[in-house]
Parts: sequence; C-alpha cells; structure tokens
Amino acid sequence: MKLYNTLTRRKEEFIPIEQGKVSMYNCGPTVYNYIHVGNARPLVVFDTLRRFFAYRGYDVRFVVNFTDIDDKLINKANDEKTTVKAIAERYIEAFMEDANGLNLYDYKTINPRATEYIQEMIEFIQGLIDKGAAYAIDGNVYFNIHSAKEYGKLSKKNIDELVSGARIEINEEKQNPMDFALWKKAKPGEPYWDSPWGNGRPGWHIECSVMAKSILGETIDIHSGGEDLQFPHHENEIAQSETLTGKPFANYWLHNGMITVDNKKMSKSEGNFFTIKDVAQEYDLEVLRFFLLSSHYRSPINFSREVMDHTEKGLERLYNSKKNLEYLLEKADDRELNEEENKIIDNILKHKEHFIQGMEDDLNTADAIAAIFELVKYINTNIDEDSNRIVVKKAYDILMELAGVLGILSNEEEILEEEILELIEKRTEARKNKDYGLADEIRDKLKDRGIVLEDTQDGVKWKRV
Ligand SMILES: [Zn+2]
Repeated sequence: MKLYNTLTRRKEEFIPIEQGKVSMYNCGPTVYNYIHVGNARPLVVFDTLRRFFAYRGYDVRFVVNFTDIDDKLINKANDEKTTVKAIAERYIEAFMEDANGLNLYDYKTINPRATEYIQEMIEFIQGLIDKGAAYAIDGNVYFNIHSAKEYGKLSKKNIDELVSGARIEINEEKQNPMDFALWKKAKPGEPYWDSPWGNGRPGWHIECSVMAKSILGETIDIHSGGEDLQFPHHENEIAQSETLTGKPFANYWLHNGMITVDNKKMSKSEGNFFTIKDVAQEYDLEVLRFFLLSSHYRSPINFSREVMDHTEKGLERLYNSKKNLEYLLEKADDRELNEEENKIIDNILKHKEHFIQGMEDDLNTADAIAAIFELVKYINTNIDEDSNRIVVKKAYDILMELAGVLGILSNEEEILEEEILELIEKRTEARKNKDYGLADEIRDKLKDRGIVLEDTQDGVKWKRV
C-alpha cells in the first residue's frame, strides 16, 4: 500500500515496524463542545484506513485521545459554574453519540483521556529537563526548541525565520519566543496536579506525545490528523518525543485537507458552522460519512446541502442494490455454475480488485467508491430472478464486504410494528411455557433493533429508543 507521507512530501510504500501489525495515533477532540463537520473528517478518514488495514489482515491498534484538560474546558466550566470534569463527561458522551452515528467505533478503538496519564507526563517532562531540553521557571516548564535537532522538519518551516517572526510578549519568561509550555502553573481556581515544579497541569502538545508512547510505544507506524495540526502541534510532538527517546516518533505522517461550507471557510462568525448534531437533524449520519469519503482525503472538500442530497441519492442506490440482492437470494436456486456464470463471478471479482487498487493508492476512497458504483451497475445488468443463487450470493457478499471497509450500508431495515407485535406474542407464549431462555432471546433481539419492552400490569408495552 502507498501512503503520502507529509514528512517526505512523497507517496511511499507502507512498511510496518512489525510485520502484520499497525499502530496508529490520531489527535482526538478537546471535549468542551459538540464536534463539527470539520472535526469529523479525520475521524472518518482514518477510521476507514484502520478498517482497510484490518480488512487486509493487519492487527491494528488505533488510538484517538480525548483532551479533557485545557483552557477551553476551564473557561466553559467557569462560565457554567461547574467542574472541568463535568464538562468533559458531558462532551465525551455527546462525542460517543456522534461517533456511533458516523459508524466509527465498531472495532476496538482506544480512547485514552489526557487526565489519566498525568504521572507519565510528569516523568516525560522530567526526562526532557534531565536532558537539558526543557527548563522550569516559576512553576511553568518550557521546551527549548533549539534542543530539537530537526525542528521544522514536518511543516518545512525554518526555525530562524520562526524565531525572528515570533511576537515577543511582554513579561516573557521564556528563553526564546518559540519555546512552548510543557507544564502550566495553576492559576487560582483551576484544577491542578502535584508536580516537582508545583501545582499545575500539562500543556496540550505533551499529552499526545505521552499517550502515544505509553500505549503504542516509542516509535509508531502512523500519526494522523487534520492538516491544520501540522504546525505547531505535530511539529512540537515530534520535537518532544524525538528529543527524549532519540528515535523517530512516527514513520508516516498523514494529514487530511480542510472542509469549506458553500465554498467558504467554516466559522461561527460566517454562520456556516455545522455540528454533527445539526447534520443529524436532516440526514442519516451515514450520508455524512459517505460524503466525507467521496473525495480523496488530502483534497479540500466542500460541504453543501446540494452535495449532501446528491450523496444521499448515491447511497440510496447502493441500499437498493443490497435490498434487491437480498430479495433475489430468497428467490434463487442453487445449481452448478455454468461457464457464463463463472465469467460473471470473475467480473464481480475484478470490481473488487479495482476497489482495492484505489484504497492502496494512498487511500483513494473516491476511486474505491467509483469501483463500488461500477459493481452495482454490473450487478443490475447481469443478475436477475433467473440467476444462479451462487452468483447472487457472491455479488451480495462482495458488495457488503467492500461497503464494510468504508463503514457504509450498515443500517438495518426499520423493524415494522407488525413484526414487533408478533415477537412480543411469541415472547409471552415462551414465558407461559417457562421457556425463559427463548423469552430473553426475543427481548434482546428487539433491543438490538432499538425496541425496548416493559412488562406492566396491563401487559407488555414497547417503545423505540
Ligand atoms: Zn495531538
């Protein structure tokens, strides 16, 4: 597989550190607000990369952190007269809801919280001080960017130009204006942790370096995020990690392009700012996921109602094909494959190859989606009620396999009221016969499809959740 590495500005063959395994770290949300469409892009894109690796047989470890201590959380907690922890809990819960809608976490994603790694952060910072790469002044600790040998290598910025262009703040206690905070002294009323430098809390950049190292190791395969994080965030992560360990921090750096809304930069002041929850009011979030994958991840992408409507129609075509194949599966008969049917299966497999080729070319999901539409077109013209069941099954399996890699076509048909009542009756009958195993099974089956049962004096009541 080829991946475009921001470090080298080239597409490179992906070679994992350990054969058959991939470690990935993606900078996650600061949990002080609902996430918006721009936040969703890296999450969806790199979740798809993870799925593709898993599909190709890799054992993937994927970390997406929560930044749950930060100025923004502190300010929000003060405004609402509540605790930072309460703010974090609220927005982590909201995030998980959005993540479920976007079909992000049906694999094992590791979601560490920064505040769970404070001790490791303190040790990491002490290590940098011991190496002479960081210094403490009056309860704050700063990283000395001149100690990072290759500072600027990711963002291709020149350190001397950065230093001469930097704004010098009044009362600056830093040795150099580009030095950044590893540890911040607690102001009155702020949450804090004990440290060798006094009460305080970690800076943002150190969090990612420490969680990546603690969970995935000193060198990881892939570090990803939005291109707006290249500088200074990712540059500073590299500086800290590589200065401490003397080893490369990540072998491949992947960055996704930005989102515009109606061809303008998304911003609150423009009034074109969409949270995932806003989008969910109008569309199934699978449509948003499909939209975010419809362009190559490094290209800018424009979000508009028109494009979303168009995407929704495209997704509907895929669902129709799925439903049609399900219908045909029930109708068709198994028989020995003849030559022509073998050819149809070969052609179906060719579309699968095109899909894989697209994905292996720097995760070109636009090409991969085009291959799925070609497959569906082929299915529609070559498979019908007279088709051999083996052929129909092959078409269905391949369609669902490729859709699964993109994390789409995952919605179950909505369960009909008639079906619910039938199942409730069956359950009541089972309970009468003291077959509690079956009764529980039916209740769980309904729960999986969003129906909750309640046993009342007037009989069983049900509701959708
Ligand atoms: Zn980060």
